[in-house]
Amino acid sequence: MSAEQNIIEVDDLKKAFGENVVLKDISFSVKKSEKVVLIGPSGSGKSTLLRCLNRLEDDYEGKVLFEGENVNGASKEKLCLLRQKMGMVFQQFNLFPHKTVLENITFSPIKLKVASSAEATEHAHELLEQVGLSEKAEAYPQSLSGGQQQRVAIARALAMNPEVMLFDEPTSALDPEMVGDVLDVMERLAKNGMTMIIVTHEMSFAQNIADKVLFMNDGMIADSGTAKHIFKETDNARTRSFLSKVM
Ligand code: ADP
Ligand code: MG
Repeated sequence: MSAEQNIIEVDDLKKAFGENVVLKDISFSVKKSEKVVLIGPSGSGKSTLLRCLNRLEDDYEGKVLFEGENVNGASKEKLCLLRQKMGMVFQQFNLFPHKTVLENITFSPIKLKVASSAEATEHAHELLEQVGLSEKAEAYPQSLSGGQQQRVAIARALAMNPEVMLFDEPTSALDPEMVGDVLDVMERLAKNGMTMIIVTHEMSFAQNIADKVLFMNDGMIADSGTAKHIFKETDNARTRSFLSKVM
């Protein structure tokens, strides 16, 4: 696959919960290595959109293609493989409380047989070093700060060697002094060429990292473009009003 090809393509995506249409005609694409940041008010559909990409949300209309493959039509086995290629990090880190940090990270690769136990363990130690937590391999989640737990959650997602990382407000549940360490880890991932789709309210981080910003409002992409366009140049009244409230 060439660098120019789209790794993700979303075409006319529509999603409703009952009568409530929460995504309306969403279309965008993501190229390999691209960082796409989703911003927008609460309830505008950002999480639902991320969840449609790996089909944590089902029953949507329109097309989601991952590396050219139709996510919506994928068989159970295929979907499992597709999900392995899309690492996801949530606001709530959801680590397994009764497993050590190391076990949290090696669990999926071993269970899904993408690595032997020895390989998974070696990889986990590398990942812990990447996220600055080498000394925490044997610790249990509850002994870690929120920021440390979130960095373990990132390492856990990376353990599957994903092609794309999806982040849904990864720092929103953290005390302010923890936010920087998590953003640093994400920035390093970005520099190493990871393809990333990030929902965040950290606007200066968004400005720094984004190749493309999608502003969502009321289930639609109301504005999109480079960080410069969205944060400096746009004359879209909704974008400006939203940014004036969060910056
Ligand atoms: P955001 O992440 O931008 O805050 P969400 O994607 O979480 O927005 O929500 C978009 C809309 O979809 C909201 O109106 C929300 O109430 C609704 N919604 C999200 N998940 C569900 C669900 N599982 N069942 C019903 N409504 C939902
Ligand atoms: Mg959300």
